[in-house]
Amino acid sequence: KYKSYPYEHMQKIREQNISPSLRMYYKKPLLLHQGHMQWLFDYEGRRYLDLFAGIVTVSVGHCHPKVTVAAQKQLARLWHTTNIYMHPSIHEYAEKLTSFLPDPLKVVYLTNSGSEANDLAMFMARLYTRNFDIISLRGAYHGGSPYTLGLTSVGLYKHSVANGFGCSTTMLPDVFRGPWGGSHCRDSPVQTVRKCSCSEGVCHANDQYIEQFKDTLNTSVPKTIAGFIAEPIQGVNGAVQYPRNFLKEAYQLVRERGGICISDEVQTGFGRTGSHFWGFETHGVVPDIVTLAKGIGNGFPMAAVVTTKDIASSLAQNLHFNTFGGSPLACVVGAAVLDAIEEDGLQKNSEEVGTYMLLELAKLRDKFEVVGDVRGKGLMIGVEMVTDKDSRHPLPGEEINQIWEDCKDMGVLIGRGGLYSQTFRIKPPMCINKKDVDFTVEVLNTALQKHMERAAAK
Ligand code: PMP
Repeated sequence: KYKSYPYEHMQKIREQNISPSLRMYYKKPLLLHQGHMQWLFDYEGRRYLDLFAGIVTVSVGHCHPKVTVAAQKQLARLWHTTNIYMHPSIHEYAEKLTSFLPDPLKVVYLTNSGSEANDLAMFMARLYTRNFDIISLRGAYHGGSPYTLGLTSVGLYKHSVANGFGCSTTMLPDVFRGPWGGSHCRDSPVQTVRKCSCSEGVCHANDQYIEQFKDTLNTSVPKTIAGFIAEPIQGVNGAVQYPRNFLKEAYQLVRERGGICISDEVQTGFGRTGSHFWGFETHGVVPDIVTLAKGIGNGFPMAAVVTTKDIASSLAQNLHFNTFGGSPLACVVGAAVLDAIEEDGLQKNSEEVGTYMLLELAKLRDKFEVVGDVRGKGLMIGVEMVTDKDSRHPLPGEEINQIWEDCKDMGVLIGRGGLYSQTFRIKPPMCINKKDVDFTVEVLNTALQKHMERAAAK
């Protein structure tokens, strides 16, 4: 049963009482009522396939029964904090979470959001190394707090306040949009259509990007640095993938300068990339700190930092406290999410369904000139829209918007990303299946066809 809600009244309240710095999706934003696995339902009873998982937060499925029941049971028992008394939930969760991580990543800090996790990671990097400077990649989003805004390198989120002391950004190794294309270089079933001088196993693009990284090390920071933070695949920027060896070589350069390496797994963790549980594993590196949020709680507000005993000891010289971090509720939810990933085979599903989706989407890229690039790994997918494949100019906003709105009207919700909002972001709950992919591709195909008809009529 769906109650009809006074939509205009809701909009009025939003205008008057809710943060004006948010931007709602769609001309007429959805008024949501309910979620079930990969589906969302609005107040009019319309069903949507959620390919953006509520901004990549829903990992195992909206209101997954296992997670919901675990939360309900705990809600009736105890909420408060695990930070001054013991409670089994945090012990069990820390043990379980770290069993998914390689040595020496074994010490867990629980926080409430990704920004908080990255704040803490920066703080630790500085305390541990006794250096100050941190490098991030352009196009990265690592948080919206004043501390992490220095790492976040997306103009849309920047504000004119003092932030970012000791933070430098370096060139994004983007083999589709960057100056050096790499047509064999990324770890994806789909490579770019850009011509380049790379061949299997030899990536000239990577060499160029590493030169740029060295240039940043030589020009923007002191001889010793605190660290480097990167996502294994950039999320907010539209599933941007780096050449295969980039992170490995960058990590080495950072460590030579006394810095530590942080992998922001907020979007790429928990099996989303399919072949591996963590994004960093796809690059063959082991970071010194990983930060986790979003999918860690399947939509429940929780996040984590995991690091080594050695690095953790630098913060142990004094107290570090977080009231809600690691609450019994968060811990049972986190544990149920890990169980669901394993029991439902979601990492394997991400790999199988994600690869199928990528290959099907690549057919659309080959069919439509405006689909410039299809990339990603597992269920971390980007579809970049351009005026044409040669120029790679972003397709004008109003044209992308119409394709996007048409998809929504046909029942498919897709995310947006990239500097010009030119990339469709497809990062669904990991429980989607091949039928959902077929539906998605059919919807996108229809929306793109309509776009071509509009363009031809102009
Ligand atoms: N890191 C990444 C990669 C993110 O995508 C985000 C959120 N978009 C954050 C950190 C910050 O997370 P939160 O919004 O929970 O603070």
